[in-house]
Amino acid sequence: MATATFRFYEELNDFLPRERRGSTFTVACARAATTKHMIEALGVPHTEVELILVNGESSGLDRILVEGDRVAVYPKFETFDVSPLHQLTEMRCGQEPLRRLRFVADAHLGGLARLLRMAGFDTLYDNAFHDDEIVAIALEQQRVVLTRDRELLKRRSVSHGCYLHAIKPAAQFRELYERLDLAALAQPFTLCLHCNLPLRPVPKAEVLALLPESVRIEQDDFNTCDSCGRVFWKGSHHKRMAAMLEAVTVATGVPAAVESALEATAPHIPGS
Ligand SMILES: [Zn+2]
Repeated sequence: MATATFRFYEELNDFLPRERRGSTFTVACARAATTKHMIEALGVPHTEVELILVNGESSGLDRILVEGDRVAVYPKFETFDVSPLHQLTEMRCGQEPLRRLRFVADAHLGGLARLLRMAGFDTLYDNAFHDDEIVAIALEQQRVVLTRDRELLKRRSVSHGCYLHAIKPAAQFRELYERLDLAALAQPFTLCLHCNLPLRPVPKAEVLALLPESVRIEQDDFNTCDSCGRVFWKGSHHKRMAAMLEAVTVATGVPAAVESALEATAPHIPGS
């Protein structure tokens, strides 16, 4: 059995018991324990870790710890353009970057899933998904797992995941926006909030029969979802959603997405 010294940085401390936060501590490691094994045994899912230094050198998740090792563990950096940290972000813990950013949310994150769809991010969600299904979907479809269940993120087959520290959907949305720098990638009001599928423009004449009278008079631009047949227009949801996107994008310093949000067709469902 080896003893090693650990220090966790920034928000990774949230996963630790109070007495270990912000300080260096020594623990006994199981025989042939790896960095992944020990970091997770101490409470931190590997998906939350950006960089591990062992005795000052960049290390992967599979390094076997030996007596006297000093392990420093850093979180995912919130933005990718912080120049002094940029070199560090190149040294990820053996994870390949995903080609397209898509998500699968666990059964407790329905509110967040809807907000992500609203912002145009392909997000699978079903409150009947079991953990095994979520992991399988993430793996097959190269999706980022979103959860507040740290045990789920400790699974080795989950290569990309985000633990949400916030409780409420709007705060979770903001947290994810900041962590993954989503503002530049958002395409607000392009997905069906219910089906997670792309909306397409539809001529007014085609949907006239489905519209309440006030909408028939006031609105001219409509989108539809080919899966559920819902028709969307700039209705009462629009201002609330646009305001929320604006708040997030302004806070993260990228106003471009705000304008496209305001110009885009907002989902509004007849009879809802
Ligand atoms: Zn739909």
